[in-house]
Amino acid sequence: MVGASSKNEANDRNAGSTIVSTYVTISAIPARTAMTASAARRSYRVPAAVRRCFDGEAPIALAHHRARKRLFRLRSPLTCGSTSGRPLPGRGVFLGGTAFWFVARTFVDDRTFGDALGQAVAGEVDLESALTLFRGSSRPERAARLFGAAAGVRDRVLGRTLELSAHIHMVTRCELSASCKYCSLSSTIPSVSDERSPLALREALQGIRYALRRGVRSIVLVGGTDPDGSDEQVRTLVERVREVTDLPLGIDVGPSLSAATVRWLVREKVRPIYCSMETINEKAFADAKPGDDLWARLAFMELVERSGGRLGNIAMNGLGSADDLLETILASRRFPHTTHLHISTFHPVPGTPWERRREGALPVSLRALAIARLAFPNLELGLAEVGVENPGDLASVHSQLLAGAGNTLAAVLVYKRMRVDNVDRIREQAAAAGFDISAAPAPVRGAIDPR
Ligand code: SF4
Repeated sequence: MVGASSKNEANDRNAGSTIVSTYVTISAIPARTAMTASAARRSYRVPAAVRRCFDGEAPIALAHHRARKRLFRLRSPLTCGSTSGRPLPGRGVFLGGTAFWFVARTFVDDRTFGDALGQAVAGEVDLESALTLFRGSSRPERAARLFGAAAGVRDRVLGRTLELSAHIHMVTRCELSASCKYCSLSSTIPSVSDERSPLALREALQGIRYALRRGVRSIVLVGGTDPDGSDEQVRTLVERVREVTDLPLGIDVGPSLSAATVRWLVREKVRPIYCSMETINEKAFADAKPGDDLWARLAFMELVERSGGRLGNIAMNGLGSADDLLETILASRRFPHTTHLHISTFHPVPGTPWERRREGALPVSLRALAIARLAFPNLELGLAEVGVENPGDLASVHSQLLAGAGNTLAAVLVYKRMRVDNVDRIREQAAAAGFDISAAPAPVRGAIDPR
């Protein structure tokens, strides 16, 4: 409901409904133009407290409370003010020397949420209904309904059999300059940046043999982005891995491959070929990844499509707003050969430019995951991180499965100086949640447009 007036919102609130979305109205703009939260955020510098309202990650009352503590002025229950005297870019409004943002709220009632959920279960998810589901599920009981619906779709389409995969890092060096601000490669602490040191071929094969012994059923070779190309290295590695195993093999080196190598990978049945979008919000992408190029990534994804390959994609919660996250997830529709979609959650890494940035909220990732399941019933879906230490952890296997994740989980992670082996604990948690771990090699399945 763009451009809702305070009066209408008050009426909605009186009707006992809950916040579904936040829009901003800036009264100095002619005709009280209103825009979506993400559009406003892109166009104007928004105080952090107000941004929290936009992202739906804090109840609006909490945002108000924080605003007050930070000497933001509170004009009414529906208003967040910016700091006194701070100039608003563009056409901000000044009242007695104080600039104000008027934050309007729209609400979703139970019926609207239920309708959106019913449509989503039937396979109809557009951005508007995704936003309704996302904002509406900020209430725990509605989040439970959303998760239940997503898990039901997963069970119906993919069943309750899980397969375990291994991720081998880093098979190619990342040559981006500058490194992404959230990546450990940008850390000034050597022990942190070393985590992503490239593996020698021998080390990569050793890691793969280890993972095979642990019972994984697919392997993903993960490397960095090299704008000059990693073709030769990738071809050699794939040939050597094929000598070790026939298991399904995926590759994730970003847009570092030529059209000829992509076609070769498709012939070799290397799938999926990952290229993480991270965020479709150009500005947020450029801010987080100053050495990277969103358009090069999108062009590479189109190249994989044209070549008949299967695509993998990752959307990051923590780049841009929650609206951006949902837009990024739904942008997978542009690429009908997508078979794998993961949602990562930003965690600050020591020594990086973003070490003090607020981390992404896991409940947001889980709600986005459930909406992704409703939008893409037959994809391999999950959080990018599989936390298993604590079953109560929101990133745990149990939480993911509850929210519709499946049916492949990364169980072995191989790095230069470290191996993470979660096979036994994932087996335990999966069994407790009523899932079988497949003993058979994973078939390739689940394209948006199956072929
Ligand atoms: S492209 Fe990947 S490996 Fe390279 S800096 Fe960014 S996150 Fe790190």
